[in-house]
Formats: sequence, C-alpha cells, structure tokens
Amino acid sequence: MSSYNKVTPQIADQLKAVVGEKRFFEGEAIKPEYSHDEMPIYGKYFPEVVCEAETTEEISEIVKICAANKIPVVPRGAGTGLVGGCVPLNGGVIISTRRMDKILGYDMDNLVVHVQCGVLLQDLAADALDHGLMYPPDPGEKTSTLGGNVSTNAGGMKAVKYGVTRDYVLAMTVVLPSGEIMKLGKTVCKTSSGYSLLHLMIGSEGTLGIITEMTLKLIPKPIVDVSLILPFPDIASCISAVPKIKLANLDPQSIEFMDADIVKSSAAFTGNSVFPQEVNGEPVGASILVTFVGNSEDELDLKMEKLAEVAEETGAFDVLVVDTPTLKKDVWAARSSFLTAIEADTKLLDEMDVVVPVNRIAEFLLFTRELGDKHDIYMRNFGHAGDGNLHIYCCSNDLEEEEFLRRVKIIMDASYAKCVEFEGQVSGEHAIGHAKKYYLKESVGDTAFNLMQEIKKVFDPDMILNPGKVCTYICE
Ligand SMILES: Cc1cc2nc3c(=O)[nH]c(=O)nc-3n(C[C@H](O)[C@H](O)[C@H](O)COP(=O)(O)OP(=O)(O)OC[C@H]3O[C@@H](n4cnc5c(N)ncnc54)[C@H](O)[C@@H]3O)c2cc1C
Repeated sequence: MSSYNKVTPQIADQLKAVVGEKRFFEGEAIKPEYSHDEMPIYGKYFPEVVCEAETTEEISEIVKICAANKIPVVPRGAGTGLVGGCVPLNGGVIISTRRMDKILGYDMDNLVVHVQCGVLLQDLAADALDHGLMYPPDPGEKTSTLGGNVSTNAGGMKAVKYGVTRDYVLAMTVVLPSGEIMKLGKTVCKTSSGYSLLHLMIGSEGTLGIITEMTLKLIPKPIVDVSLILPFPDIASCISAVPKIKLANLDPQSIEFMDADIVKSSAAFTGNSVFPQEVNGEPVGASILVTFVGNSEDELDLKMEKLAEVAEETGAFDVLVVDTPTLKKDVWAARSSFLTAIEADTKLLDEMDVVVPVNRIAEFLLFTRELGDKHDIYMRNFGHAGDGNLHIYCCSNDLEEEEFLRRVKIIMDASYAKCVEFEGQVSGEHAIGHAKKYYLKESVGDTAFNLMQEIKKVFDPDMILNPGKVCTYICE
C-alpha cells in the first residue's frame, strides 16, 4: 500500500484550472500508451490524470498542487524509454511535455540553442543543420524529446567521437518537487563553481526535478562524411578491430556493431539487405559500421586507407564503402530500425543495455549467447561498439510470458553479475527506470546506492516525483 492520496474531483478541478479542459485528461480519455513506454513487458500502470503542460509556470503550478496533496507526479516526454522510466507506478498525475516543443532561439556567437523540453530530437537536429550547425547527441529514436534525452543522459551513435547528451547541456530551468522554479548552469564553456547540480539533474530520470527548458551546445556541422561496412567471420575478430581503429587515430564518429541474426531480421523487416550476410560464400558472423567525418575528401581518403589496413590485420572479409546518398540513407535507416525489426517478429522481449570495457565486449557477448542457448532464449545483439555499449535482446515467440520472464531473470542475473565482474555498468544510455534498479544496487554497492537515496530525499522528502524509479522502492 502506498501512502499517496488519490486525485479527488476537487484536485482535478484545480489541475484543470491550470491547463484548461482541452489539455486535461482523466479516466477513459487517457490513451493506453500512457500506461507504458516502449517496453510494455515491465508492466502497465495507468495515471489518474494526464496534464499537457505548455510552460514552466504551468508545470510549477501542477507540481505545487501535487505536493500539497501528496499525489505522485511523473514527467513524460515521448514515452520512447526502454526501462519503464515514465510509467506512473503509483497512479497520480502524468505531466506530458509534448506541447513544449518550441526552439526558443540560437545564440550564434556562443554556439548554443535554447529549447523547451518537449522539442523532438529530430526537429532540433534538422533545424540546427539549417543553421549550419550540428547537435551531436544521436540516440536511435529520433522522435524522443530533448527533455527525455537529458533526463536519461541519452547516448547514441555518435558518442564515440562527440560524447553523450550530458556533454551538450550548459544550462536548464527545472521545477523542483516543491513546485519551485530553479535555474541551473550558464552559457559558459567551463565552471568549477561548487557541486554541479546541473550534472546531478542530467540523467536523474525525472526523480529530482522536471526539466522545462535547456541551453544546449552546438558545433559547426562537418563538411564531408563517409560510412564503411566491415564484415567479419565472427564476433571476436569483429570486436578486435575497435581498439585498433581508435589507436590508429582515425577518430571515427561511429563504430556500430551488429551480429548476423539482427542483420537477418533487419533485412526481412526493411525488405532491403544492405548489410552483407555472406562474402564469397563465407557466412558473416558480425559486422561493424564505421563513419568518418571531416573537412575534405582527401582527409576521408586517408582515413579510409588506414581503415583498410586495420581491416586486413583483423581478418575482415572486405571493406564496403557506403558511397551513394541512397545507399547511405538505406544503411542508416536499416541500422536505426534494428529494435523495431526485433519488435516486429518477436512476441516477448527484454533487453540489456550494459556497457563494458571495449576489450571485454566479445567475451561478454559470447557469455550471454551461451546463457541464451542453455535456457532456450533467442539472443540478438547490436550496439555502440566504439564505447562498449551493448544492446542485448532476449527474445521468444514460443514461451508463455511467465516462463519467459522466469528464464530471462536467470539470464539477466548472471549477465549483470558478469558485467560487475568485468567492471562494466548496468546501463550505458537507456538508464535505470524501475526495470533495472535492483541491478543498479548490486553494481554500485550499498554505500553509493544509499547515498543516491539520501540525495533523492533532500530533493523530494515526500517522494512525490516519479516514485519507484532509479533508487526508490516506495511503491512496493
Ligand atoms: C527504437 C529505439 C531506439 C533507441 N535508441 C536509443 C539510443 O541509441 N540511445 C539512447 O540513449 N536511447 C535510445 N532509446 C531510448 C529512448 O529513446 C531514450 O531513453 C530517450 O532519451 C527517451 O526520451 P523520451 O522523450 O521518449 O522520454 P520518456 O520515455 O518519456 O521518459 C524517459 C525518462 O525521462 C523522464 N523525463 C522525460 N522528460 C522529462 C523532463 N522534461 N524532465 C524530467 N524528466 C523527464 C521520464 O520521467 C522518464 O524517467 C531508444 C528507444 C527506442 C524505442
């Protein structure tokens, strides 16, 4: 039993007065999608009320009402998360940020952009390019919101060169669990000015505050780029190329890894076989997709030559240049569709988003594959090999859900324990939500986990903001 209160008709009226009738939803007017994110296997939980906010002030008013009545409140961006982060475990109020979608302006002298939290990643990425600039964080789901990206510290395909979302957040406006509005950070390139509450808020998954506006760093857009596919006979040789590419000072923008099974699923899903499944009659076991960016074709030619040397040294079957705009579009569309391709042909699935040291990737993948074989769970793998971040999917079309979950738990327990042994982390980019919090405790240890819980209490003593996530268990 939770100690929260319900949204009474009187409280509903107060909330309605903040956002108006048209942006207030309750009962059957709430769309089913608000009960889950992109991983419904972690359970469905309905809110009592959904409020679509348009401004920081509205969010502040809604949170004040929830704080005064001890009602849980959960921020939700696009709901593309993969760990049940935006799911209202205790009912209460969801604040949807989908209408806070304005790009508020560019500061070209300081190379920053000011945005509302509900701007979609794809909209900022396209708009920045129109300004001759690039927003480097590039998680696979382009319809996610920037607020969601900052709250999960999203990574993506360009992290190996440019870093992750955290590295592009200079300032933000936040509504605290009391409803108070606070500004964090400034448009400056460096700071050593006390504890960084800004960085505490980044990746806090809506448990410490609701981020309403952000100032994000941009860079000049690269002039030329090229992508190359390196098919290998097996995972071990494939992954052995990754540190060599880095050591050769090739500074790739992406090094994406994919196993043979995911390539097959993607080809069936897109109807377009862009990644080779065999070369000269030899089956391809795994491939990497490498992208270089630069200022001139000559610069890229040099990098491609050096990459060919690495490919030969590590036993790649070939180096395939993705050289036409159509092919480039198809290859990256196929890469971006991997999860959707798995979802399309899988009844039950669960995932891991571990990050391990690059030199342990192959060993880790083989370990999980053996576990899958042992428990008759079909494993499919892809990920950001350049930074050791692996997306490992446990899939089944035959098992009943209960039996699937039982077997997957055995695989997950063993895999996360192996991840700890390899000095890895529970999540490279999808975050913790409520699905991975037990593994977080095991991974960081009691002292760090308790400290996280104490930090949560300082921000949110009544535990109203996104309860049951990251390090809190109040809902159970
Ligand atoms: C096909 C696919 C591919 C993906 N690829 C990647 C990838 O490559 N890299 C990656 O990192 N992720 C990836 N993801 C996961 C997901 O897209 C990211 O986690 C994304 O950052 C979530 O954004 P969202 O707007 O959908 O947030 P939601 O799912 O709505 O919320 C995620 C979390 O953030 C909180 N939150 C949302 N908005 C705010 C706010 N304004 N203030 C405070 N808290 C807030 C929520 O409460 C929740 O805890 C992928 C997902 C899919 C479905």
